Amino acid sequence: MSELFYATLSSVWDLLQKKEVSASELTQLCLKRLETTEPKLGAMLTVDAEGALEQAKTLDRQGPDPNCPLWGVPVTVKDVILTRGLTTTAGSRMLENFVPPYDAFVVERLRKAGAIILGKANMDEFAMGSTTENSAYHAAHNPWDVQKVPGGSSGGSAVSVAAGQCFASLGTDTGGSIRQPAALCGCVGMKPTYGRVSRYGVIAYGSSLDQVGPLARSVSDCARVLGVIAGHDPRDATSSPCAVPDYLTALASNGDLNGVRFGLPKEFYGAGLASDVAAACEKTLQCLREAGAESVEVSLPHTHAAIATYYIIAMAEASSNLARYDGVRYGYRSQNITDLESLYVKSRTEGFGQEVRRRIMLGAFVLSSGYYDAYYKKAAQVRRIIRDEYLAALDSCDVLLCPVSPVTAWPLGQHANDPLKMYLMDAYTLSLNLAGLPGLSLPVALAASGLPIGMQIIGKAFSEAQLFSLGQAMENLLPAIGQPKL
Ligand code: GLN
Repeated sequence: MSELFYATLSSVWDLLQKKEVSASELTQLCLKRLETTEPKLGAMLTVDAEGALEQAKTLDRQGPDPNCPLWGVPVTVKDVILTRGLTTTAGSRMLENFVPPYDAFVVERLRKAGAIILGKANMDEFAMGSTTENSAYHAAHNPWDVQKVPGGSSGGSAVSVAAGQCFASLGTDTGGSIRQPAALCGCVGMKPTYGRVSRYGVIAYGSSLDQVGPLARSVSDCARVLGVIAGHDPRDATSSPCAVPDYLTALASNGDLNGVRFGLPKEFYGAGLASDVAAACEKTLQCLREAGAESVEVSLPHTHAAIATYYIIAMAEASSNLARYDGVRYGYRSQNITDLESLYVKSRTEGFGQEVRRRIMLGAFVLSSGYYDAYYKKAAQVRRIIRDEYLAALDSCDVLLCPVSPVTAWPLGQHANDPLKMYLMDAYTLSLNLAGLPGLSLPVALAASGLPIGMQIIGKAFSEAQLFSLGQAMENLLPAIGQPKL
């Protein structure tokens, strides 16, 4: 039982179905694991022990249901996703006391599939950041080395999965926030195609970029969770009516690497890539070639413009989305006010952290009438070019394969006071959100430093089944990186 917390979701689901372990026992195991590891890791903002045990008890009373793909499985949910009756802060003081009156679509789906929600995972405030250090509450720590960052903004989700506190988690990815923490913490994470998963009940950051997706300890576990949360939802006008394939069946039926053409975007393998990450990518490619795969060089010539383009668009959208926190309707309200204007100014100044305030101001600037053409409009045009380049590259191969982060996890505090350096860390992830395409991040090696290295497989829109099947083939081929010693 004691090592069960590192088991895969699929294997504990089997045990639950056979009644070799009960939902209550598994929930207790995870709560115990949280108790012993949280003081070092800080992965969670709220742990709902009572609620989780109650859910487990109800499930046990009803008995296992083979039609529920997450029956009895304890999971965590990024704190940007609304959970009815359970505090949802988005990592911000602004929403410190916010208890949502309804569940997000993805949470409704989790519950219907029989998942047990252990609590809400730590994150950068309003999902703005790459390390989870921007959480208004506390930083999260990498389970492979607690002096290092876990990545972000879904850092808490990645830590809770990598540390065996749960069997899967939901994160959100606006510019890499699922794939990058998954890579830095050694787990698997999928950013689905824009529109694949409903954002109903997900606190908005950059609405043309945000997607919800799973993090887990294996490719097939991610596939199982995406199968649960994907699908059309009339309450999100951007959610796609495109049918959801059975991802698990897709996994079982193929996965041969022979003849697969991996496109390597040359801009992702050049200057800026740390030597240990470059070596791990090269070794991975060698293994793939030995298994019969081919690699072809492709080019994404506007990669150099992706960071500027992304940050203009993301900040513009954030400035608009965050206008709703005005101290009037809900959220933090300053006590120290004299008139309407001071109510707005003080509530927003005191309720938001520094990075959020910076982005709101820059976002309002790039949208202002004098600068709109020079910044926002230009960024929208470059975004289209970036998307077209991705589609052209994907025409000459089956999928793209590239690193997720230019470096392994770095020390806490290293870039905390240098926003531009921090933004550079997203160089390999954010153009995918500009293009709206899906990406699967999976661990490929441990560096000599003992820290995980991840690579991402990128495909055409709605090609998640193909990414999962190739991801699983890679997972079978490459030596497992093991688990952090905690
Ligand atoms: N690090 C990026 C940002 O700060 C991406 C964050 C995300 O994907 N939510 O905007």
